[in-house]
Amino acid sequence: MSFSKKVQDLKEEVLKESDPLFRHVEDVAEANTLKVLDAMRECRVSDAHFNTTTGYAYDDIGRGKLEELYAKVFGAERALVRTQFVSGTHALATVLFGILRPGDELVSLTGKPYDTMQTVIGYDHPSAGSLKEFGILYNELPMIDGRVDLDGIKSVISEKTKMVEIQRSRGYSMRNPLSVEDIRVITDEVHRIKPDCICFVDNCYGEFVDTLEPTQAGADIMAGSLIKNPGGGIAPAGGYIAGKDELVELASYRLTAPGMGDELGASLANNRLLFQGLFLAPHVVAQAIKGALFAAGMFAKLGYKTLPLPTDIRGDIIQAIELGSAEKLIAFCGGIQKYSPVDSYAAPEPWDMPGYADKIIMAAGTFVQGASIEFSADGPMRAPYNVYLQGALTFEHALIGIMGAAQAVLDLDSE
Ligand SMILES: *Cc1c(COP(=O)(O)O)cnc(C)c1O
Repeated sequence: MSFSKKVQDLKEEVLKESDPLFRHVEDVAEANTLKVLDAMRECRVSDAHFNTTTGYAYDDIGRGKLEELYAKVFGAERALVRTQFVSGTHALATVLFGILRPGDELVSLTGKPYDTMQTVIGYDHPSAGSLKEFGILYNELPMIDGRVDLDGIKSVISEKTKMVEIQRSRGYSMRNPLSVEDIRVITDEVHRIKPDCICFVDNCYGEFVDTLEPTQAGADIMAGSLIKNPGGGIAPAGGYIAGKDELVELASYRLTAPGMGDELGASLANNRLLFQGLFLAPHVVAQAIKGALFAAGMFAKLGYKTLPLPTDIRGDIIQAIELGSAEKLIAFCGGIQKYSPVDSYAAPEPWDMPGYADKIIMAAGTFVQGASIEFSADGPMRAPYNVYLQGALTFEHALIGIMGAAQAVLDLDSE
């Protein structure tokens, strides 16, 4: 028997209580599927756009069409969607280095940015090639009780502030993610204080959680990863940037080279994967959110602090659970790994991941290496030992994996 009676009974209870929550998630997925289909029709997507190209790839119609489609879906003027972005961090860094110049100031309005962004910025974690080395100034506004300090915004925006960064998702912290409505209020306040200040949103893990994206709610530019939400679990690699025409153009000169911009860059991966991934993304995101809701319900019943709470409105696909000990964090990840489709025979161990300050443990038996739109769990090896659970190509997989994690943690308690 894989799961104890206690775990199976809990599953039934949580599923019963989750019904109305699931209904809301399905409504959002339906609205976003319609949004993507409408954009695909307006852009006249056809199988002629699915081919690979080589060399400089001038006039790559597939690449051009994909970027037109992303811009339309995100309500942005322009987009860059490339497998040449090696990760979300790379896409985000391309925005920062593309737009900021020596003497400009960047202000994070959501406290400390995501771990890898701290290395890019270079103030908390000195690193070669950081924004700091290029003479870009940096300041941050700490969050208060997990919320952006709206009244404090005017105190951190000065003449030099060229850009504010707003991180939608929680990263490795126990704050709530921002809703698109929160982002609208924040960008309104920034633009009221300084109309030309660029509002840049780190949209990782946020795509298709709501029916609007940050670029439809006041953000000037945003970026994210294709092996998270918008790749739908099918994109093999890449990142995107979307936003105002002239800002995306500046970023494109950093992606390639000054003078070249977005007019070259071969479609090395079959473009079908990126189009089909975007088509599937609203549904896959819904699967992931249902998994997150189920995990919150399950672990709340087991007495753990969860964020969000089972009944909270979601702003990203992440479920954080405070496990309280290194042993439980390792056991939890082991339970998830055991029910992964890939590398399920392996036991995850904490390791020094490039770009991160603490050791990280990761359960990721994914088809695309490190893809966190696929069912995965990770967390830094530091108190209070939060695990961050995200993704799922199918809800059934999330359900089984979460039962596996619950069983592993319970087994530890009974030792
Ligand atoms: C995942 C993520 C990133 C980028 O991470 P990559 O692993 O480089 O794709 C940046 N910010 C947040 C909030 C994230 O969740």
